[in-house]
Amino acid sequence: MTARCPCCRARLRGAVQCPRCRADLSALFKVWQAASFYLAKAIQDWQAGRYEQSLVALEQSMKLHKTELALSFRDFLVHQQCQAVLALLADKQLWKARQQLYRGRRLLPCSELLQQLQLFIDDLLFQETDDKSGHLSSIPL
Ligand SMILES: [Zn+2]
Repeated sequence: MTARCPCCRARLRGAVQCPRCRADLSALFKVWQAASFYLAKAIQDWQAGRYEQSLVALEQSMKLHKTELALSFRDFLVHQQCQAVLALLADKQLWKARQQLYRGRRLLPCSELLQQLQLFIDDLLFQETDDKSGHLSSIPL
């Protein structure tokens, strides 16, 4: 991704002062540096199996600067959550799948894919519960 001046959209090529409009961008660069620091931390935490810390760092990074790399990393995390849930579904472990999804959605609440998956599982669970007892009151969260 090429950084652009927020004032005039000129390409910056690493310059602290915009080559076109002369805006001082040093403060902005500091924010972007902090964002990439947190993104690197998120990726390292993920690799080390510290998933919760990873998501916290990713959120921090994206608050400062939503880069394509950060967005891709978030997509990757959503994809991983989906795979874990689908593996449980394939194994007919509906409750475990729902719990896994619940954790995923808590950490990635904006994911439409996870949201749809939850509706699907709830529907499956509803059918199953409906067949057996006819009510849903026994479903824990
Ligand atoms: Zn400019």
